[in-house]
Amino acid sequence: MFFKDFTEYKNTKGRVLHIGWLEPEHDYEKGEVDEKVVKKLIALHDREATCLTRGVHLCGFCPPERGWVYLQEGKHRILGHAEIWVPNNDQAKTFAAPSLIIHYILEHGYRPPQEFIDAVMGFDLNSDWSGDQTWMDLMDDWYGPQDWGDF
Ligand SMILES: [Zn+2]
Repeated sequence: MFFKDFTEYKNTKGRVLHIGWLEPEHDYEKGEVDEKVVKKLIALHDREATCLTRGVHLCGFCPPERGWVYLQEGKHRILGHAEIWVPNNDQAKTFAAPSLIIHYILEHGYRPPQEFIDAVMGFDLNSDWSGDQTWMDLMDDWYGPQDWGDF
């Protein structure tokens, strides 16, 4: 799925913004990304993968025979079936990236916008902030408060 960086995520009134939703038919920013940023994104993914899907999105830049994208960094993971959400530094906005963003950086030279990198590096992994909770708060805004159970 392609969304330009900083476009509005679904119907979130600009509170959640897309970052790193790349597809081959659209150009994207390339450049060096510090290894620390990648490690922090992996830590964010492991802390809380948000908006899990039942299917797995394949990387559009890799040959189809490659199949699912795996990431081996300490442990084994599949990328492409969840999102990584992170608040910006004043927590006024949330960035929503596909988990494949880690792969796009490592193997396809993607350089996310600096504001996103700053949000990732500024995020406290021990904080109570939760992407899933942010999502449920948005759902409450849309549909009125209710118990969504576990999903
Ligand atoms: Zn790829």
